[in-house]
Amino acid sequence: MARVRLNDVTKRYEDITAVNEMNLEIEDGEFICLVGPSGCGKSTTMETIAGLTKPSEGTVHIGDTDVTKLPPKDRGVSMVFQNIALFPHMDVYDNISFGLRLRKYDTEEIDARVDQASDIVQLEGMLDRMPDELSGGQQQRVAIARAIVRDPDVFLMDEPLANLDAKLRVHMRTELQRLHKQLDTTIIYVTHDQAEAMTMSDRIAVINAGELQQIDPPLVCYNEPVNLFVAGFIGSPSMNFVDGELTEKGLATDHFDLEFDVDGLELAPGDAVTMGIRPEDIYPTAQSTTLPSSSAGIDATTDVLEPMGDEIFVYLTLDGSSAETMTSTEASTASNQLQMSVDPDSAIDEGENITVVLDRSKVHLFETASGDAVAHGIETVSKPNADRASAKVEAEAEADAGGRHE
Ligand code: ADP
Repeated sequence: MARVRLNDVTKRYEDITAVNEMNLEIEDGEFICLVGPSGCGKSTTMETIAGLTKPSEGTVHIGDTDVTKLPPKDRGVSMVFQNIALFPHMDVYDNISFGLRLRKYDTEEIDARVDQASDIVQLEGMLDRMPDELSGGQQQRVAIARAIVRDPDVFLMDEPLANLDAKLRVHMRTELQRLHKQLDTTIIYVTHDQAEAMTMSDRIAVINAGELQQIDPPLVCYNEPVNLFVAGFIGSPSMNFVDGELTEKGLATDHFDLEFDVDGLELAPGDAVTMGIRPEDIYPTAQSTTLPSSSAGIDATTDVLEPMGDEIFVYLTLDGSSAETMTSTEASTASNQLQMSVDPDSAIDEGENITVVLDRSKVHLFETASGDAVAHGIETVSKPNADRASAKVEAEAEADAGGRHE
């Protein structure tokens, strides 16, 4: 296993900047997901680590070695891709051992490695099957075994589950987590699926338009997104956003006001602020009694109900304006729409006038112009970045103090 570092990596293709000044530090044995929308530069970042493409600027280190100019085969990495690409005329054993045979490993060593790898990915008893006799999931396991036998320092996986059906994908996620525990190897995994990233990784690197937005454990990205992009990308269904303006007393929107102490914010009354709230943090007033701190009631009309079994998604229109008069695109981006998630046994009907409240501890505020987060929770207004910086200083001070005691 090895640490991977990208220092100021930029990759340009003529007039396209696919990756822009990317700095990443991936720890030994960490499972990290690079996640972001299609075309944001995830694969290009991965390819610069693999050595399949050279950065226009910047360096890549694996362990203590600067590998920026090394070919892929000398980097100690193994890759698994979306397109499984097994040799159709070779059985499973030959597919898994292909790279080892090419490198002229002796037969005993090859047998031992294939046995161990096929055991890990649960392909025992299938070594003499041909690829067309395997299911999609089994084929992907052959590809993973082929990567394992090379005993790499770092696994690079680019959307390896994208071609599998939904059920198998969920199953393979668990298998990959088990594999990671068993091999204790650094895994860098590319996906556009935020749910995949949330469930598998130690940390998520959220990328947009070639730039790293946030790199943090999944729940930190979920609870403390650094900007509007991360807030909207992580979590399904997405966070609701309502545009408004900061006042002396809090936030004023076209549909409701939220009162809170604005003194701690680095914004002035009159500044444009976007409020964010996740569907599960909105409650019908009847169900809000357990909330330690809720907002004042907000009047809304229920438009559409989507029963999911374990919860119901309720689409709300604020101020009684009806979504029926809008196109679906207008409705999904409109600031007068909120999506709420409620218990499946909630007695709510379509077209009902209801009052909802927001869990104040889960209200996020963003500066509309920059998109940067300015507060997570409006009970005690805190500055997210300043808080984190001061927590880091405290941690470092503690570590220093510990060091001196030794
Ligand atoms: P992702 O993996 O997030 O979908 P990519 O890293 O594949 O994104 O691509 C990032 C951007 O770089 C896209 O705009 C893509 O069109 C562009 N790009 C990627 N590879 C090449 C290439 N070989 N030549 C020109 N443009 C490329």
